[in-house]
Amino acid sequence: MSESSSSLSPGGADGAVHDVLIVGGGPAGLSAALNLARSLAHVLLVDADRPRNAATINSHGFLTRDGIPPQELRRLARAELAGYPSVDVRTRQRVLSLSRDEDGLFAAAVGRSSPGERIRARAVLLATGLRETLPDVPDLRGFYGMSLFSCAACDGFELRGRRLALFGRSADLADRARLVARWSRDLTVFTHGADVIDAVEEAELAALGLTVERRPIVALIGAKGVLEAAELSDGSRIPLDGGFVRPDWSLDLSFLDGISPALDGGGHLVTDGSGRTSEPGLYAAGDAAAPGPQQLIVAAGAGARAAAMIVHDGLGVTTSH
Ligand SMILES: Cc1cc2nc3c(=O)[nH]c(=O)nc-3n(C[C@H](O)[C@H](O)[C@H](O)COP(=O)(O)OP(=O)(O)OC[C@H]3O[C@@H](n4cnc5c(N)ncnc54)[C@H](O)[C@@H]3O)c2cc1C
Repeated sequence: MSESSSSLSPGGADGAVHDVLIVGGGPAGLSAALNLARSLAHVLLVDADRPRNAATINSHGFLTRDGIPPQELRRLARAELAGYPSVDVRTRQRVLSLSRDEDGLFAAAVGRSSPGERIRARAVLLATGLRETLPDVPDLRGFYGMSLFSCAACDGFELRGRRLALFGRSADLADRARLVARWSRDLTVFTHGADVIDAVEEAELAALGLTVERRPIVALIGAKGVLEAAELSDGSRIPLDGGFVRPDWSLDLSFLDGISPALDGGGHLVTDGSGRTSEPGLYAAGDAAAPGPQQLIVAAGAGARAAAMIVHDGLGVTTSH
C-alpha cells in the first residue's frame, strides 16, 4: 500500500479527504461502516440501493433477524449508523467513477448522474454485490423471490419436501441439483434445451430420485408469484410448488478508471481472505469478493473483517487481533 493511501486520520477529519469510501450499502458495506465508525474512521458510504435480493419478501438465516424483509435489515443498519457522526451515508447515489490521484489518494465522482461531486479517500471498500442474469425461461421473473429462489441455504427450508424445480443453463447444474436435493428429492432439473447435464450426471441424479427434463419450457403457470406448473413444448405440464434458479452472476466495475484489481476466473474480485484486493488501499467484501457462500450474514461478516484490516493497515500494525 502506498504511504499516502495507507494512513487513517488519527480520529479526526482531514479536510475533504475521507478515511474510507464504501461503495455499496448492502450488509457488507453497512457492517464495514459500523465497525469503521467504532474505530473513529471518517467514512462516506454511497449506495445505489438496488440490492440483489430486492425481489424477495423475507430474508432468512441472519442471526436474530431470521425472516426479516431485505429493506428492513438495511433500514435498521442505517438507523444504527445515524448514531455515529463520522459516517456519512448517501443512498440512491452511485460512485460514478473511481480513480487514483497522483498523490496516491482515491478520487471518486459521487451522485445520481454525471459528473457528480468529487470526493477523495485514503482507502476504498468495494461492496457492490453482484448482478444477476436469470436463465431465459419464459415467465421466470414473475416467480423469482416469491416461490423461486437462487440460494438453497437461504430458502430451502420453506420449500422442504415440496415438488421443486431447478432451472439453469450452467455447467454446474447437476452439482446444484445435488445440493437442492437435500431439501427435496421431488426435484425436476430443467435444462430448457441446453446441453449442460451429461448421461453420467443424469444417471447419478436418477439414483437420487431426481428427474432431468431436457425439453424447452414454453410457460410457467401460477398466480401471485406462486408457481404451480411448468408447461413444455409438447403441451404437457409438470406440477410444481416452487424451486430454485441458477442465475449467471457478474460484477459491474465499469466505474473503475485506471484501477484494475485482480479478478478470478468467474469475474469476481480476488482478495487475500481479509478483504485486501491486489490494488493497494482497495478492499472488497460481500458477494463482490469471491468465493461464496452468497448470504447476508456472510457478507456482513466479510464487511466487518475488511473494516478491521483497513484500520490495521492504516496504522501499519500487523496483529490479527
Ligand atoms: C432472490 C434472492 C433471495 C435471497 N435471499 C437470501 C436470504 O434469505 N438470506 C441470505 O442470507 N441471503 C439471501 N440472498 C443473498 C443476499 O441477498 C446476498 O448475499 C447479499 O445481499 C450480499 O450482500 P452485499 O452487501 O455483498 O451486496 P448487496 O446486498 O447486493 O448490496 C450491494 C449494494 O451496492 C450497490 N451498488 C452497486 N454498485 C454501486 C455503485 N457504483 N455505487 C453505489 N452503490 C452501488 C447496490 O445498489 C446495492 O445496494 C438472496 C439473494 C437473492 C437474489
